[in-house]
Amino acid sequence: MKESVRQLQPYVPEKPLATLQQELGIARLVRLSANENPYGTSPKVAEAVKAWDFNESNRYPDGDATALRQAVAQQQSVDPDQLVFSVGLDEMIAMVSRTFLSAGDQVLVSAPTFSEYALHAEIEGAKLVSVPTLPNDQVDFDGLLAAITPAVKMVWLCNPNNPTGTSEPLAKIEWFIQQVPATTMVLIDEAYIDFAKNAATLTAMQLPAKYDNVVVMRTFSKAYGLANFRIGYGIFSKAYAPTMQAVRLPYNVNAITQVAALAAVKDTSFVRQTVMKNAAERQAWSTFFDQQGIRYDQSDANFIFFAYPEATALADALLHHGYSLRTGLRDGWLRMTIGTAADGQDLRKLIAAYQAKSARH
Ligand SMILES: *Cc1c(COP(=O)(O)O)cnc(C)c1O
Repeated sequence: MKESVRQLQPYVPEKPLATLQQELGIARLVRLSANENPYGTSPKVAEAVKAWDFNESNRYPDGDATALRQAVAQQQSVDPDQLVFSVGLDEMIAMVSRTFLSAGDQVLVSAPTFSEYALHAEIEGAKLVSVPTLPNDQVDFDGLLAAITPAVKMVWLCNPNNPTGTSEPLAKIEWFIQQVPATTMVLIDEAYIDFAKNAATLTAMQLPAKYDNVVVMRTFSKAYGLANFRIGYGIFSKAYAPTMQAVRLPYNVNAITQVAALAAVKDTSFVRQTVMKNAAERQAWSTFFDQQGIRYDQSDANFIFFAYPEATALADALLHHGYSLRTGLRDGWLRMTIGTAADGQDLRKLIAAYQAKSARH
């Protein structure tokens, strides 16, 4: 066994909803801890999956994901050859770590951020270097630059960032890329960018064509509502895309998933509706937190990160009312997926009542 994995702590996945409901003895549990799409999945995806020919089951899937590749390339205005598909964006994080890291290298992140970057750095025997966010939880780009050494082979930028929800302007990201040595990979995780107010001008999608060391990543798990299908992709420079295709397992994305993702890309209306409903609810939450005097980060995503003195106790109380929030990302803070308007109303009442009760004690 390689030394780097001996002490590895596994990612703790979400428990199946039914299991958790049974454990808690409640009839309805709304999971607001995994940033899933609360509006479900496009009905066009259901149609496409049902129309899939079962007689293809004994055949390997299209290893090039040809139809999906064409559709995504067109949607994102990139060259089809720049695209590499993966089993969720998670697999892409594992794949790039495996490709660009050797034991003893360093990986630079702004903290807090998505934990998978650290996990895969560790598996490759690389050392994680964290630069804390600024007081408003924006990225400290000067701090990141000061931490760049020849040992740093990868820098992760999650934009908008999980768990803070904050986003960084494209101009700042490009300026940062220009200061980083060409031998350091800059990986931009855009899992939540569809939810940003100015997604079209925020995305770094066009940068891999300009800078060989830049990679942009997307997933179908969030705005597209396909978390169960496990599909994401990376946009690479023409210099690195062939290497990534060689590292990728030949048949990683199965045919049903390809069919589902293609239908999801075509149904632009579903994503637009999801983004609009999320933005309206996000605004309702900002207004509520302002009214309650609860501190929160400016979110450009489908979740909000907020501070609460007894965060764990609040999360526990809400869980028993049927809402699970994400704890353990920072002391005294909770991350809450923005759910439907009806659940939002209910949840805001519960939090307001909890606040009033704690104030009396
Ligand atoms: C959810 C998430 C992912 C992983 O998404 P999958 O495609 O479901 O593997 C990647 N990055 C961030 C920041 C996420 O929050």
